[in-house]
Amino acid sequence: MLTDYHLHLRPDDVSATAAEYFSTANVDRYRAVAEERGIGELGCAEHVYRFAQALEVWSHPLWRESASDDLDAYCGFVREETDLRLGIEADFIVGREDRMATLLESREWDYVVGSVHFLGEHAVDHDGYEVWDHRSQRPDELWRRYFRTLGEAARSGLFDILAHPDLIKYWGSRRPVPEGDLRRFYELAMDGIAESRIAIEVSTAGLRKPAGEIYPAPAFLEMCLEAGCPVALSSDAHVPADVGRDYDDAVALLQRLGVGELAVFERRVRRLEPVG
Ligand SMILES: [Zn+2]
Ligand SMILES: [Zn+2]
Repeated sequence: MLTDYHLHLRPDDVSATAAEYFSTANVDRYRAVAEERGIGELGCAEHVYRFAQALEVWSHPLWRESASDDLDAYCGFVREETDLRLGIEADFIVGREDRMATLLESREWDYVVGSVHFLGEHAVDHDGYEVWDHRSQRPDELWRRYFRTLGEAARSGLFDILAHPDLIKYWGSRRPVPEGDLRRFYELAMDGIAESRIAIEVSTAGLRKPAGEIYPAPAFLEMCLEAGCPVALSSDAHVPADVGRDYDDAVALLQRLGVGELAVFERRVRRLEPVG
């Protein structure tokens, strides 16, 4: 079994409307590519901040300009008109955990993908809300903050899958990167990850970004495996052509690290299926 659980049915651009993209014809395009690539289990995880209800959680400017759709209409569409698993990509916003819990608990997801995109008001992967205040800034402090926040996200219990776990490397060499062995940063997330045994997303999206690497780095993934966490496999596709993109690389990585099973979710219950 192969999964692709972190699918977006539309690009991030606010002009990509729900009316245009949340359609069975569009889902069929994702299914067709998945079938070609031998991926049986698909789920979508739209960004929570594209939905009006997210403004009850946080009112960041990006969210205010993006939050136009109805969350329950999305859930209804996926459940009633598609054979996709119903997921959501929810941000971990420090201080807003209770509000996010309220939003998430009132809907019946198959799984919730948890992401750390923001440190305070600033984003690690969006140059409109740049977290780097200067390109020559020393990176160690930001990396420490990112991985501490990631550990808190795991520990919060809000999420089933920890998305793109080392997203802080998004910009690759276009932003400062700490020197030496990066495990000193990963270590800062590990208590929360080990306690929660959250599923760790292996995402091929990093290969399509300036980082040019799968998320997470093999050394980080190894630490998560040692802590007893299972793996969830995803592409983070925003267009049909990216469904299961570069899965050969991801599966080779899993084989190299001895991962023989993938996490599969239904109504937030997790089980493991052999990779294949
Ligand atoms: Zn994300
Ligand atoms: Zn995503």
